[in-house]
Amino acid sequence: MSRPGAAAGPAAHTGTDADVVVVGAGAAGLSLVRHLLDVSSPSALSVAVVEPPPGPVRSPERTWCFWEGEEGAGAGGSGAGLGAPVTASWRRLLVRGPGGEALGGDSPRRYLMVRSADFIRAMDARLAAAGSVTRITGTVTAVGDGPHGARVSGTDAGGRPFALTGRWVFDSRPPRVLPPAHTTLLQHFRGWFVRTAEDRFDPGTAELMDLRTPQPRRGLSFAYVLPLTPREALVEYTEFSPSPLSVGEYEAALRHYTEHVRPLGEFTVTGAEQGVIPMTDGRFARRAGHSVFRIGTAGGATRPSTGYTFATVQRQSAQVAAALAAGRTPLPPRPHARRHLAMDAALLRALATGRVDGADFFARLFRRNRLDSVLRFLDGRSAFREEVAIGLRSPIWPMARSLAELPLLPRRPPAAVPRPGDPHQRKAHC
Ligand SMILES: Cc1cc2nc3c(=O)[nH]c(=O)nc-3n(C[C@H](O)[C@H](O)[C@H](O)COP(=O)(O)OP(=O)(O)OC[C@H]3O[C@@H](n4cnc5c(N)ncnc54)[C@H](O)[C@@H]3O)c2cc1C
Repeated sequence: MSRPGAAAGPAAHTGTDADVVVVGAGAAGLSLVRHLLDVSSPSALSVAVVEPPPGPVRSPERTWCFWEGEEGAGAGGSGAGLGAPVTASWRRLLVRGPGGEALGGDSPRRYLMVRSADFIRAMDARLAAAGSVTRITGTVTAVGDGPHGARVSGTDAGGRPFALTGRWVFDSRPPRVLPPAHTTLLQHFRGWFVRTAEDRFDPGTAELMDLRTPQPRRGLSFAYVLPLTPREALVEYTEFSPSPLSVGEYEAALRHYTEHVRPLGEFTVTGAEQGVIPMTDGRFARRAGHSVFRIGTAGGATRPSTGYTFATVQRQSAQVAAALAAGRTPLPPRPHARRHLAMDAALLRALATGRVDGADFFARLFRRNRLDSVLRFLDGRSAFREEVAIGLRSPIWPMARSLAELPLLPRRPPAAVPRPGDPHQRKAHC
């Protein structure tokens, strides 16, 4: 392992060689560093983390929700495992069918919300205390194998080039282009943090899907309501469909929901969150070179049928950190079981072709199956027999036809991921 100061190139900001270079300090990058600090003694591995300066390249702030226990050692719902405060947690989960039917109940594990800003702040403090981690502000433009590991290059906050080498590099830059796929949908949404004039929410109940929203011709729409107090909640309008909406269209959908579907009375909007999460059966490479691995959404950690990523990232990070601490090749484990990916591919195809009515599909999923089985399935932890039971209670023929035809269909060429703020400019296909 070469030491700091040895990085090559005409760089103004160079010289940080490290055992591990992590590109991107978001969910996957910081989770990996957190697990590394948990498993290795402070001086055992040198780590460099590269994150762009504030601006258009840096990922915007967001909230992450996941099931209690996935945050890792020391868990228990307090966020103690993550080392970051939990903004809210819910024991009861509700899904509302298209006709208003209330489905759901008490969950065996609580659903937790963590704000990315809190997680990053907590990690900043931890990294500052751990002498073995170097933070670098810069925008990475290239990552590739080098003679002694891998080389990362880019430009620093002043626009000057930098380069560094690492024995292993983990690249979490969000993909700008999605892999060739049979089906590519987007989970796209905008949410308002609202404060109502009167009590309107039950802070003990997370409303995962309110399917009473007007449905798009293909795909699905629903509202997601996460109460923080009786008068405060995150209310999101979400679609699973081929292309995102404009801000004006999301705002109109949110107004319709909060005025007509679930009237909130008088309220103020105190903040907003908007995002696009790829839902694709394309294959993401976990390895991009001998010493280069992809993690997070870039490495396929996003579950195609749900968009959930955070819990998978925690599981993967723990295993990668353990491999590094043991001196093994730290190839990230498969993020999802093959059978889950096959079921997700069939669902995406059935939704994209309009063979299944999305709102009816999800209402039926929660109506006909035990809540804990559905939650385990959505979280990638279900047993095979549970999945068979869920499969038999879903619309069998459209799902079976969608699954059967997949091997006969071509994978369409890569699709660009639209970024929030430029809807309608780059559309995905399905
Ligand atoms: C608004 C929103 C809400 C979401 N909510 C949930 C949720 O509740 N539960 C869940 O499981 N999933 C959720 N997801 C999906 C997923 O968990 C998140 O997108 C998560 O942040 C993905 O982690 P990541 O590390 O792959 O990407 P990010 O967290 O986006 O991390 C990538 C990092 O790379 C940095 N970066 C980008 N370009 C460069 C570059 N050129 N050089 C160096 N660094 C770079 C970024 O600044 C960022 O820090 C949500 C997604 C969005 C968009």
